[in-house]
Amino acid sequence: VPEARLFCGVDVGASATKVVLVDEGCTVVARVVRPSGVDYAATADACLAEALAEAGAHRTIVERVIATGYGRSNVAFADRAMTEIHCHGLGCWEHLRQAMTIVDIGGQDNKVIHLDGVGHRVNFKMNRKCAAGTGAFLEEIALRLDLAVSELDRLASASTEAVRLSSFCTVFAKTEILAHLRRGARVEAIVRGAFESVIARVIEMDPLDGRVVLSGGVAAYNPTIAEILARRIGRPVEITPFPQHAGAFGAALSAARQGKET
Ligand code: ADP
Repeated sequence: VPEARLFCGVDVGASATKVVLVDEGCTVVARVVRPSGVDYAATADACLAEALAEAGAHRTIVERVIATGYGRSNVAFADRAMTEIHCHGLGCWEHLRQAMTIVDIGGQDNKVIHLDGVGHRVNFKMNRKCAAGTGAFLEEIALRLDLAVSELDRLASASTEAVRLSSFCTVFAKTEILAHLRRGARVEAIVRGAFESVIARVIEMDPLDGRVVLSGGVAAYNPTIAEILARRIGRPVEITPFPQHAGAFGAALSAARQGKET
């Protein structure tokens, strides 16, 4: 049972809520994820309770809480809030400590974040206007193909061919998929085509220079996405450790270091 103080990061995403607890040495002691659902506040509470149970710790030893994510204003127990751009940057920087381009593919938005060699953010792009190229797009494809999202990666990695989807749009892609199925296209090839569509959308967002690192739920469950991106840009692509929790980890790190930063 940890005696020392703990610090908490809460990332309330449009799709999933993540909580990370770190100790004073910034070591992760608990990591939790749950669907955000409709009651963000209740989900955040439940995630914190689960994380405390995982760490075998009592609420009173949590010294500071920082909230991030789309629904960050709903976390009543947070001491302050920070943007996801900032928190994903911190979370990925902690592992690599080099200039990098972070590509966060989330449930309902994508971000490209450029960090310089000392971890400062030099630039970023965010797409929050539509589901194209996000986890929600893949969820919709899974639904149309009568698959669970957890089956997508295995299918995409098993396929050597990809059915080209001419539209990024979730609504149009749905119609297209039905037409492909009727024509006898293989499900694996359609899934791989959907992965390629996600990557094409990401590549359009911003130049992916230097070291490319993926974060977010899509890369967490679909490592094939990194392979497809690497092939497209002709360079290696890494996935940050526990990628879906990168934002919550960054928030927790910030909570642990507040007042210590120069
Ligand atoms: P956000 O922060 O925007 O809520 P996340 O970064 O947590 O989103 O990513 C959510 C996405 O991760 C989902 O849209 C889905 O594509 C993917 N995902 C989540 N859980 C699973 C799972 N069990 N299997 C496959 N994919 C998953």
